[in-house]
Amino acid sequence: MRKFIKPKIVLSSCLNLEPVRYNGEIIKDPFVIKLREYCEIISVCPEVSIGLGVPRDKIIVYKEKDNYGIYQPSKDLDLTQDMLSFTYNLLSNLPQVDGFLLKSKSPSCGVSNTLVYADKHGKEFYFKGKGIFAQIILEKLPNLPIEDEGRLRNREIREKYLIRIFSLSELRNLENQLKNISQLIDFHQRYKYLLMAFSQKHSKIMGNLIGNFNKEKPLEDIKKTYSNLFKEALSSALKRGNQANVLLHIFGHFSKKLKEGEKSHFLSLIEKYRMGKIEIKVLREIIKSWAYRFDDQYIMNQTYLEPYPEDLEES
Ligand code: SF4
Repeated sequence: MRKFIKPKIVLSSCLNLEPVRYNGEIIKDPFVIKLREYCEIISVCPEVSIGLGVPRDKIIVYKEKDNYGIYQPSKDLDLTQDMLSFTYNLLSNLPQVDGFLLKSKSPSCGVSNTLVYADKHGKEFYFKGKGIFAQIILEKLPNLPIEDEGRLRNREIREKYLIRIFSLSELRNLENQLKNISQLIDFHQRYKYLLMAFSQKHSKIMGNLIGNFNKEKPLEDIKKTYSNLFKEALSSALKRGNQANVLLHIFGHFSKKLKEGEKSHFLSLIEKYRMGKIEIKVLREIIKSWAYRFDDQYIMNQTYLEPYPEDLEES
């Protein structure tokens, strides 16, 4: 069983942590409650941090021409500059984190479905967008997993988010401990199929980077390049077609040792997966059982087979 490094996650304080919402409430989200057990949490409430009390009058997001900001209509108060200063200050003092999990629909934290108005008094609805805090975080940290609890109710978005935070926490751990190239080679080997599932292109470039390592070059340089490529790779779409190709690759690893019936059964399951009729975990379990049966350490060590703690799967 894989040992996981706890991801370091910035979490909106009102998600199960503190009653800091404008109306003094707290949001109870069962998935977030479970996820917290597996993560190291940095709690943040941007609105309380800029001096707004609890409870407080509502604020709204507006977009007037090129100006995007937040406003508290009841007090006639533009809070955009306060929020920008708080966010940039937070970013410059933040330790290395593996992702953000923010509150949906919020004028500050919403990654999705935040109501944006065409005027500062919230009279004319314009479109559904992002909260201002979330918008800056997304812009400044484009390769980090940043989601809100609303979007995580979608199974595919949640699975990708979990894969990314648990992979990035292991990368962070590696970066902190890296002393020689063999550690990086070992890491890359364990992530081979997971990287292929996200981006074959990145996986090749990273393989070449490690393969062409020359002792004259500082390890720090390769570490930095590898880490950026890893984050970039995991920002790519996780498509069923790519995953089916990875499954075929792993199948190729075992096919000579399998019976005809096993082979055709597995191939038909890949097709069902490709068509969205079954979940990937069915295929992962079959591969795991082959790895145990043929005592294949290389496949057993692949993070692709257990990309995040199983307990989080059915939340
Ligand atoms: S959504 Fe963000 S700003 Fe609003 S209460 Fe929650 S943490 Fe605070």
